[in-house]
Amino acid sequence: MIGEEITLKGVRKSYGSTVAVEPLNLEITAGEFVSILGPSGSGKTTLLTMIAGFEYPDEGRISVGNRDITRVVPNKRGIGMVFQKYALFPHLTVAENVAFPLRMRRQSPHDIRTRVAAALDIVQLSAFAARYPHELSGGQQQRVAVARALVFRPPVLLMDEPLGALDKKLRESMQFEIKALQKSLGVTVVYVTHDQEEALTMSDRVAVMAGGKLAQIGSPHELYDEPRDSFVADFIGKMNFVPGRVIGREADEMIIRAASSELFRLNARKLAGKQDQLVQLAFRPERARLVRKSQARPGALGGTVSASVFVGSHHMYVVDVSGDDTRPVHVQAEPGSDVRFSAGDEVEILPDPAHLTAFPLVEVR
Ligand code: ADP
Repeated sequence: MIGEEITLKGVRKSYGSTVAVEPLNLEITAGEFVSILGPSGSGKTTLLTMIAGFEYPDEGRISVGNRDITRVVPNKRGIGMVFQKYALFPHLTVAENVAFPLRMRRQSPHDIRTRVAAALDIVQLSAFAARYPHELSGGQQQRVAVARALVFRPPVLLMDEPLGALDKKLRESMQFEIKALQKSLGVTVVYVTHDQEEALTMSDRVAVMAGGKLAQIGSPHELYDEPRDSFVADFIGKMNFVPGRVIGREADEMIIRAASSELFRLNARKLAGKQDQLVQLAFRPERARLVRKSQARPGALGGTVSASVFVGSHHMYVVDVSGDDTRPVHVQAEPGSDVRFSAGDEVEILPDPAHLTAFPLVEVR
């Protein structure tokens, strides 16, 4: 395994009065694949740029293995990089492009030939060695960029939206290729993306950024099943939110009155709420069922179906919740089930209690 660990301690960066990255700590283990995910402007690129060395932090320390690289220039860091714009040299062939980092490092012609051949083999482009970049498809060009970044066997590979310019199908196959390559080489990867599906598919852990801060870091499962706050809950996958109020507590259960005045019980572990606190009940579309309206019952939300949408693998019902005109709730029909509800139907939404959670309405971050 060639990967080494990356440690960021108290790293902060501002541009004038804009704080791009608030002081943050991040430890990435050797051979790990970590994605940095977040909306535009959340500080992802700034964070990556500091690891790459194109910007220095105002404060804090960055190390790779046991080397402090905080103020080392980029080409002395020994880090591989791939960006969205392939940045291949147009006047050099594929083989010459891949050889470039080795020439810069003054390797012998024999070593260069062997290593370039091996790198092209890894990305399955041996047959294209003599072509020029403009004679390749976008996906092939990006594979050349990956080969060039890996040819000097760096312990760390940084990737900034590397598949952003490719169409969806190609992007998905490249995701698997890059992931397989990363695993077989054991290189540590930091991967910036704003595409949460891509981050969940590829990563060992995902770091979610918001406003220059690390909102949460965890495995894809942890982020999906145990989001720390409503921002992460909303950003990862689809989450329904219904406003409510804490009206009491019995033993270890919080009692919440939501929208249509029905009562929900929630384990107090999930919400450290106080009496009268305004909250948002939260559940995912696949963690709830719809039934025809009978009588109001606890643990159910009354509503009216406004649409039934076919999304390819299943139907999604869109339901206007009685007493809540903020935003409609989505409930996923079980895959393969008949469409049983249509617009105008009066229904009850039954969130699965095990997967129902709540967040304080106003969060301080
Ligand atoms: P992201 O990659 O998540 O879109 P960035 O790291 O590019 O976010 O930007 C974070 C914040 O820092 C934004 O508010 C952005 O406008 C600001 N910023 C980034 N680079 C510069 C720069 N070179 N000069 C001034 N402000 C910048």
